[in-house]
Amino acid sequence: MIEQPYIYRRVELAEPDWQRFPGWADVSPAEWQSAQWQRAHCVKNSRQLRNVMGDALEDRFYADLERDQRERATMSMLVPPQMVNTMAPGATPGSAGFTDAFYADPVRRYMIPVFTDRREDWPSHPYAQRDSLHEAEMWAVEGLTHRYPTKVLAEVLPTCPQYCGHCTRMDLVGNPTAVTDKHKFTLARPDRLGAMLDYLRNSPSVRDVVVSGGDVANLPWPRLEEFVSALLDIDNIRDVRLATKALMGLPQHWLQDDVRSGMERLAAKSRERGASIAIHTHVNAAQSITPLVARASEHWRLTLSEAQFLQHQIMGYLPGFATPRIVCDVPYVGKRWVDQVARYDAELGISYWTKNYRTAVEAADPLALGREYPYYDPIYMLPEQGQQWWRARGRPDGQQVPGEAVSARV
Ligand code: SF4
Repeated sequence: MIEQPYIYRRVELAEPDWQRFPGWADVSPAEWQSAQWQRAHCVKNSRQLRNVMGDALEDRFYADLERDQRERATMSMLVPPQMVNTMAPGATPGSAGFTDAFYADPVRRYMIPVFTDRREDWPSHPYAQRDSLHEAEMWAVEGLTHRYPTKVLAEVLPTCPQYCGHCTRMDLVGNPTAVTDKHKFTLARPDRLGAMLDYLRNSPSVRDVVVSGGDVANLPWPRLEEFVSALLDIDNIRDVRLATKALMGLPQHWLQDDVRSGMERLAAKSRERGASIAIHTHVNAAQSITPLVARASEHWRLTLSEAQFLQHQIMGYLPGFATPRIVCDVPYVGKRWVDQVARYDAELGISYWTKNYRTAVEAADPLALGREYPYYDPIYMLPEQGQQWWRARGRPDGQQVPGEAVSARV
């Protein structure tokens, strides 16, 4: 038999048994499948996690979590039971080794980060900023980012049913934490959404709208339907994508009768108009795909060279259309395949990217198409020489690394 670096195995979909956790031992299937029950029982702090886990987790974990919340966390804690239940699915709560299995779990690592997960030397990159993709600078009207010629991102609300530690919209999304304040929209929601629609009615070059936030699952369905329906009334809008991680984190939401019938109405309207409507999501770990998720249906950064290596390694296992394409989300440029980089200094971890179009917000910038836009790798993953360079210089232009930016985010 030929030895392969990756062995494909089909895994049966199974919902882990939530009753294994002491706090949910009496929760019935009907309660578990209720979106309302899930939302009401989200875990928001260490005390609530203890109520679910009982003595299954050792005290060191709670102390680690509490320290992170005091000193590092950029996202407030909000984990639906559905997601907690997919953590350490193969370990028995209370058994020897459960705490270590929970520590090692990939879903736990990004949804319930603890202090010892973070690096002490470079908890964040010197150039890290709260709005890491500079989306707010590219707002055509409040909440509407226009950074591609034909596509826009509509941030319709600043909340989600779950908060991920790696959120690239940590500047806007969620509640303030001990170390991070959050941007507040200035316009009331109806005015903000109205301004977005007016902008799109007057922007015939835009055809694709990502309706996001936050997560559209937190917008009351009638408001979301009204907005999307108004988008579909605009002749130039041909693609509408609804962004929701809740498809995985809270599939119960998307299985509700009123939401399903609302989606059916929107699908019928888009079909009638010859436009496309889609839900897009992200799922960070295969174990998050459970039968409920299937029924309803997408420290954390890499270096560019590692992403290029991963892309190389996954080629050839799946049909082309099903092969993931790894992209780098470059500030001011947008998503680029990882091999599209113009120049790359892998030792310093700085890659340079170009763009092939202007958007409305940079229409008057004569250098927009000639400029190279930098992207920075995590410093702790660089070769030792590169790390030394950053320690000595701080910034490539020789300026000192600003202290507040260092702690901005992981
Ligand atoms: S669901 Fe998306 S927007 Fe919400 S916290 Fe997670 S990454 Fe951020």
